[in-house]
Amino acid sequence: MAAKEFQCEVKSFKMITPSVFELGFETSEPVEFEAGQFFSIVIPGAGPKGRDLRRAYSIASPPEKRPIELCVKLVEEGPGTNFLIKLRPGDRFRAFASYGDFTYEPKPGRAACFIATGTGIAPFRSMVFSKEFQEALPLQSFCLLGVREEEEVIYTEEFQTVKGLTWVPTVSRPNPSGSWTGFKGRVTDWLRTQGDSFPWKETEYYLCGNGAMIDETKALLAEKGVEKTSIHQEVYYKTPKDAAAAKTAEAAPQH
Ligand SMILES: Cc1cc2nc3c(=O)[nH]c(=O)nc-3n(C[C@H](O)[C@H](O)[C@H](O)COP(=O)(O)OP(=O)(O)OC[C@H]3O[C@@H](n4cnc5c(N)ncnc54)[C@H](O)[C@@H]3O)c2cc1C
Repeated sequence: MAAKEFQCEVKSFKMITPSVFELGFETSEPVEFEAGQFFSIVIPGAGPKGRDLRRAYSIASPPEKRPIELCVKLVEEGPGTNFLIKLRPGDRFRAFASYGDFTYEPKPGRAACFIATGTGIAPFRSMVFSKEFQEALPLQSFCLLGVREEEEVIYTEEFQTVKGLTWVPTVSRPNPSGSWTGFKGRVTDWLRTQGDSFPWKETEYYLCGNGAMIDETKALLAEKGVEKTSIHQEVYYKTPKDAAAAKTAEAAPQH
């Protein structure tokens, strides 16, 4: 279905960590979407010469649920997130929807492994609580969430309720007080701890978030013999350093 413009009204606003907030909203007309798709939100007057900007946000709630929810990380001096964080119930904004092909496809007989950094968990919350997923649960599923500090781990209680799902939050810089008792390191470090009993080749992988994590995870999965067709990805952003490294790699002579 072609994307179209919607007027949206904010229904709820909640800070869920010191820098991540959840925004609930309703659209003026009904909107359909598949779990994993995103809204493109108009950021009024934030562009050059006062033009509007647009920013993409994955839908963090399942397709059957209203209000729709987004889960957004505040980026310092970022025009999109600084606009969204000021919205409160009753405020309105414009958005275009629905976009994206990073959607969940049930594959009978195969496991599913969702791998996120930060708010990259948003589309997976939509997927695992969707009717489609709940009515045909994979025999086995994993959800890895990589963050820097333990206070950034979100949605643990919700994901722990999903039948057959192994929830693995990983923290790369835990508090030195030792309060974090979960896995210390990055999502790729956790994957490296998995031996031959992990269903490497019998799994569909969904990767979302920071581009560097996605590149590292894909390299590791390639080492494990995972087919490219079993890897699905949504890159939220690449740091300027990652983008430069990717360009250099592309420009390197191919042998
Ligand atoms: C398909 C898609 C879906 C997305 N869904 C979400 C979502 O559900 N939740 C969400 O928080 N973001 C999401 N993003 C990122 C979002 O679109 C914006 O890029 C982000 O919110 C920053 O916008 P900004 O205008 O505030 O800052 P900008 O000025 O656009 O960004 C400044 C810089 O911040 C860095 N950056 C961008 N996003 C992040 C982040 N999450 N964490 C750390 N650094 C970052 C980048 O290096 C970027 O160059 C998504 C991106 C895409 C492409």
